[in-house]
Amino acid sequence: MAPAAQPDRIGFIGLGIMGRSMALNLVRRGFDVTVWNRTSSRMQPLLDAGARGAGSPKDAAKEADVVITIVTDSPDVEQVILGPDGVIEGARPGTVVIDMSTISPAVTRRLAETLAARGIDMLDAPVTGGDVGAREGTLSIMVGGKAEVLERCRPVLEAMGRNIVHVGDHGMGQLCKLCNQIIVGLNLLAMSEGLAFAAKAGVDLEKMLAVVRAGAGGSWALDNLAPRVLRGDYRPGFMVRLQQKDLRLALDAAGRMHLPLPGTSLVHQLLASVEAYGGADDGTQALVRVLERLGNVRIGPAADTAASDQG
Ligand code: NAP
Repeated sequence: MAPAAQPDRIGFIGLGIMGRSMALNLVRRGFDVTVWNRTSSRMQPLLDAGARGAGSPKDAAKEADVVITIVTDSPDVEQVILGPDGVIEGARPGTVVIDMSTISPAVTRRLAETLAARGIDMLDAPVTGGDVGAREGTLSIMVGGKAEVLERCRPVLEAMGRNIVHVGDHGMGQLCKLCNQIIVGLNLLAMSEGLAFAAKAGVDLEKMLAVVRAGAGGSWALDNLAPRVLRGDYRPGFMVRLQQKDLRLALDAAGRMHLPLPGTSLVHQLLASVEAYGGADDGTQALVRVLERLGNVRIGPAADTAASDQG
């Protein structure tokens, strides 16, 4: 393999809530970016910003030094990499595939093996920091795979995030992300219960947040999601159905290790109630609605006044 020049040409697959901001940050940093998205209309803002468009994942991979995927779940990543017109058909030996979706660690390891047989390196590099982190280029990125491959690709990841940690071999990035999702889920419940208690007790929610956020009860959820709740904004930064996917992955893995995760199971069950009321595509802050129903308490503004001015 030719010695490692710094990767410059990026194929980028998946322009959802996360991917579109991450791809935009790569364009802004001067990378030569070719994008593909299943729903092609979503490519337009990236084309307007200077990216090229591809007709398939295979096309996006053809000229690329690095191919990034950030789609929904394990079968979706398998589809865009191994499926018809997939990345594997376009990538050359020496190309690096970086999957930044949150998927099964076992599927990740299998993908890495299949790609390695064609001389293609893979990194699992799931992210945390939410839609805000994706927009601001401040994601935390946990990387599994070979350390030297990460070092070669670090400038690419630095365009999207600022806390980039090599956590081990293939699949370890995904396992680390599941640790994150366990903690995120429980912080979400902590935020929701704190808000429910405050609302029921007649505490001023804005003032409570202003003081608690800065202390030992502070969290990303309190900083980023609680203000959305107070505005009645339940649009997704991170959809309930995606958090449920991640908790399912975490609970499956824990089950195989005979590790009880009672808090995580509870969050998973409570979010099922959000789904039962039609909120699967809402942001995870919609968990407060379950607490509202359970406790007969209003936390956010009444539904008919909520978020109509949020654009
Ligand atoms: P999203 O807005 O629903 O976007 C999903 C993207 O995947 C869309 O571009 C979608 O294409 C594409 N896709 C899904 N299935 C596909 C398939 N079979 N073939 C081709 N494309 C497919 O989700 P997101 O919030 O950006 O999340 C993406 C990934 O990042 C997920 O694994 C999620 O768990 C993870 N993540 C999200 C956050 C967050 O805060 N949002 C944070 C960290 C990690 P279409 O446009 O055609 O639907």
